[in-house]
Amino acid sequence: MTYPNTQLFINGEWQDAQDGKSLAVFNPATGKEIGRVAHASIPDLDRALAAVQKGFEVWRDMAPIERNKIMRKAAALMRERAAEIGAVLTQEQGKPLVEAKGEAMAAGDIIEWFADEGLRVYGRIVPSRFALTTRQMVLKDPVGPVAAFTPWNFPINQVVRKLGAALASGCSMIIKAPEETPAAPAALVRAFQDAGIPPGVLNLVYGNPAQISEYLIPHPVIRKITFTGSTPIGKQLAAIAGKHMKRVTMELGGHAPVIVCEDADIALAVKASGAAKFRNAGQVCISPTRFLVHESVKKEFADLMVKTAAALKVGDGLAEGTTMGPLANPRRLTAMAEFTKDAVERGATVLAGGERIGDAGNFFQPTILADVPTEAKVFNDEPFGPMAAIRGFKTLDEAIAEANRLSFGLAGYGFTKSLKNADLLARRVEVGMMWINMPALPSAEMPFGGVKDSGYGSEGGPEAMEAYLNSRSVAIANV
Ligand code: NAD
Repeated sequence: MTYPNTQLFINGEWQDAQDGKSLAVFNPATGKEIGRVAHASIPDLDRALAAVQKGFEVWRDMAPIERNKIMRKAAALMRERAAEIGAVLTQEQGKPLVEAKGEAMAAGDIIEWFADEGLRVYGRIVPSRFALTTRQMVLKDPVGPVAAFTPWNFPINQVVRKLGAALASGCSMIIKAPEETPAAPAALVRAFQDAGIPPGVLNLVYGNPAQISEYLIPHPVIRKITFTGSTPIGKQLAAIAGKHMKRVTMELGGHAPVIVCEDADIALAVKASGAAKFRNAGQVCISPTRFLVHESVKKEFADLMVKTAAALKVGDGLAEGTTMGPLANPRRLTAMAEFTKDAVERGATVLAGGERIGDAGNFFQPTILADVPTEAKVFNDEPFGPMAAIRGFKTLDEAIAEANRLSFGLAGYGFTKSLKNADLLARRVEVGMMWINMPALPSAEMPFGGVKDSGYGSEGGPEAMEAYLNSRSVAIANV
């Protein structure tokens, strides 16, 4: 299966880094090098900055319907190329082919939704309190060139949620995509190139993440920052942005509580959260992680979760029948081993998994831990891997207090047949996204983002567009 080398995309042209530097890309299923990605340095970034400014001036002034046509064409190309792009994504990131293809297909939906939302960027006419001859207007204008930083867990999806809203609002963008999974985001950018996006509107770079963010965020050309990744890095970047008065969207880590009440449909709870738990080997910011299960149903729930874990077929994402791939990088493998050891030392029981599989590739067993104390590392740090940590509760208040104990507030899940419990969960669990009696189904039309340390701003719904728009007041006196 072929895997492409990845170049930088600046001012409408694919190019190597000016100094010729590149980095190796590895297949997480084999640990072997499969290709290279160009590594930008400051002169490359300067060219991208000049291009993104020029691109902004062209894109801002293009009729929204023309922007819409280009975006819709790019969406169609993503769908047409989904099988080919999926195979590339699986090789660099590890997820099963069906998930990888699905990510490319979903990109089409997200781009289209934002493309159409771009036709509805309405301002307002506001009646004046002064003379009738005064017209007061609220105008919505694009904020300007954007710097976007995206991670390796959903190499396409994490970019598309940002560029969909930015492009539909009339902004241009420099994307710093993940060095570990560079070819899938490059395929996304190529779809826009082939759809006819003007040079400079989208630019794609890779390199040293800290060097690039420290250079781009303060740069006067850049007017808006958007980042998806861990909370510590998000806080660092938000601090730089704050110092330079740049607008920011931060989509950071989570540690999603799953509250399974006494009256829950247990089969549904296991089906919904089991599938979500092991999707992308748990490397999902909204992955269910802290399972809080009523004491009376804890054993039944845990037994069924063990069955779910045992039914998974772990292997190379390209192989037929694989339902869970390797972890994307060796760092996650080390983290999984540490989470397990720490939980066991503190009294948890390993009901399934807990070990690395083989010694080639980053494979880890789907892991179920029971009776996990709240002090365990896995109940405090985001596991970001195929690990479900379960503990019991006696009252719903106790479960909600545990759900809200951490500084994270991204996703939450609840399972109950009682309207009263469902209402309480919806109102009291401090998260940006709550799913009750269902798996996570994030969609382009709904806000996507967190509260507390999980960040601010949204990457879905009309709220995502607002982040890329300035609302300006204009008053004209008819003299
Ligand atoms: P990390 O914190 O080193 O990196 C996270 C992402 O931020 C990567 O894409 C990285 O390239 C980027 N990054 C790091 N330093 C940067 C900087 N100074 N400027 C700009 N970008 C920078 O962690 P990691 O080992 O790659 O992942 C581990 C943790 O990150 C996970 O446990 C998870 O909590 C979090 N994460 C979250 C998401 C998400 O979807 N919210 C995605 C990936 C990783």
